[in-house]
This record gives sequence, C-alpha cells and structure tokens, in this order.
Amino acid sequence: MDTDTRRDPPVTTGALQAAKRPVTPVAGPYGHPFHPMLVTVPIGAWVASIVFDLASRWAGEPEVFVKASFWLIGVGIVAAVVAALFGLLDLLAIPRGTPAFKTGLTHMALNLTVVVLYAVSFALRRDHLDEADVTVAALGAIPNIEWLEGSGLTLQRGVVCDEHLQAAEHVWCAGDVAAWPHPLADGELIRIEHWTNAAEQGAAAARNLLGDRTPYEAVPYFWSDQYDVKIQAAGLPQRAERFEYAEPDVALAYRGDRVVAAVTFNAPRKLMQHRRQLAMVAA
Ligand SMILES: Cc1cc2nc3c(=O)[nH]c(=O)nc-3n(C[C@H](O)[C@H](O)[C@H](O)COP(=O)(O)OP(=O)(O)OC[C@H]3O[C@@H](n4cnc5c(N)ncnc54)[C@H](O)[C@@H]3O)c2cc1C
Repeated sequence: MDTDTRRDPPVTTGALQAAKRPVTPVAGPYGHPFHPMLVTVPIGAWVASIVFDLASRWAGEPEVFVKASFWLIGVGIVAAVVAALFGLLDLLAIPRGTPAFKTGLTHMALNLTVVVLYAVSFALRRDHLDEADVTVAALGAIPNIEWLEGSGLTLQRGVVCDEHLQAAEHVWCAGDVAAWPHPLADGELIRIEHWTNAAEQGAAAARNLLGDRTPYEAVPYFWSDQYDVKIQAAGLPQRAERFEYAEPDVALAYRGDRVVAAVTFNAPRKLMQHRRQLAMVAA
C-alpha cells in the first residue's frame, strides 16, 4: 500500500482543462505559447553570434563577422526583452506562493541575468567596433587630357614631354598633366601631383620656352600636415620596393639597394638634407 503523503495530489481533468485555458489576452488558445515561441529568437541570434565570433578568428576579413555578431547580439537582446514581457504575463497568472510560481520566478531571474550580460557585451563591442590601428584615406586624380586627343601630342596618362618639358614644337608642359623622364626613375616617365612640382616645373618650362635648354631634374617634394605631424617626402616613394626607418623620424624608400625617396615626420631639416642627397644621386 502506498503511504507516501508528500506526493502531489492527482491532477484532475478539471485542473488540466483550467491550466490549458487562456489566462491572459495574449496567452493564445493553447495555454501560453508566445513566451516559448519568442525565446527561440534570442537563443537563435545568440548562438549564431557565437558562431560568427568563432568564424571571425579564422576569416581572412574578420570585420564582417565581428559586425554581424554585434548586430545579432543586439537583435537577441530586443527579442529577449519582448519574450520576457510575455513571460511576465504568464508568471503573473500563476498563483503566488506555489512551487510553479517560484520556479517561474527563478527562470525569469536567470534569463534576465543572461540578457544583462549580453547587454554589457553589446555595449563593450560597440565601443570597439570601429577601432583600427591605422586608418588610411586616399584620393586619386585623373589628368584632364581628353580634349587633347587628336592634337598630335603624345598622351599617356598625361602629356608626354622630353626632359626639357617640351611636348611638341612650341608646346611645353608643367604641373599635374606633364609626364616627363626623370633620372631618379631611370629615365622612365613620371607624373607628379604636388604644388611644389607645379610651381618649380612651371618656372622651368618657362625658362626652357625662352631658350634655356636645361633638363628638369628637380627631386619631387611634398608635405602634408596631419594634426600635429608634418609629413614631408622627397623623391619617388611610389617607386619604392620597401621602406626602412633610418631614424625614428626618417623613413627611407628603397628600390633594390638604391634610395629613391625619404619621408620625415616633424623633421624638416632632415628632409631637406635628404632632398639634396637625392638630387646628387639623380644628377
Ligand atoms: C584634394 C586635393 C588635395 C591636395 N593636397 C595637396 C597637398 O597637400 N600637397 C601638395 O603638394 N599637393 C596637393 N594636391 C595637388 C595639387 O593641388 C596639384 O598638384 C596642383 O594643384 C597642380 O597644379 P596644376 O597647375 O598642374 O593643375 P591644376 O591646379 O589642376 O590647374 C589646372 C587648371 O586647368 C584648368 N583646365 C583643365 N582643363 C582645361 C581646359 N580644357 N581648358 C581650360 N582650362 C582647363 C582647370 O580648371 C584648372 O584650373 C592636392 C590636390 C587635391 C585635388
């Protein structure tokens, strides 16, 4: 004979029916389906975020996975809060003081703790999402030479000139548009898009036009002020095969064993020294 008095009273058909009856307007006809249905969204989103986090460790371009994981966590948090609201409605329908109520309360507390942890993770990730060691932004320029097509001038991503900056009889060139052979480039055509070159070359082209047949061999130079750093370069850094720091504020650009450019940071005197040295190499 069964003498265990601790056992729960047998569930009557009436109690079963009452449990299935809707107790809140949003509980639906089958009891309380919305809360369990909704919790699948944060679970799915957060599991996917873990998969994306792992993928970011091995992917060639991890940024996409890192961002996807971040937004999946955000979607999961919103869905978890909505699911928690429906869960609260269910919880309030359970008589207080019953074991079912205590279980529901513990369930809700644990899940809200998880939501808070994910919210902290979301906030920390947002702060670091767009961080990078170095950000490089660059603009390109295309010389406007279409109008010279058919003019008889040689066009090759610029107007081709000789070392005296002469493009044709009675035609001299200077500035961004001029492509001329330079000794630092072993006689290959170069085109320089810098103010200093436009000014110096313009003067040289004018002298040559007046009869002074001097090859234009000035070492290209430009500067750029980036916040509190003055970056200056002399030579042809675009022809470099590698860069090496000669000093903490001087980087030298090499093509083979030959220095083809120097780049300095807040060191204008050193830059001018290197420009003179490059001019001697070019001469
Ligand atoms: C955004 C930006 C930032 C730059 N920053 C730097 C910098 O920090 N340091 C630096 O050294 N250099 C810089 N440069 C480059 C510098 O501005 C150029 O190297 C210099 O202006 C070139 O001078 P230029 O006389 O050869 O050509 P431009 O200054 O371009 O002058 C050419 C002129 O010809 C006109 N033109 C074109 N086609 C025709 C036509 N068919 N008929 C009549 N006129 C025509 C144009 O309207 C223009 O006025 C920068 C350039 C840009 C675009």
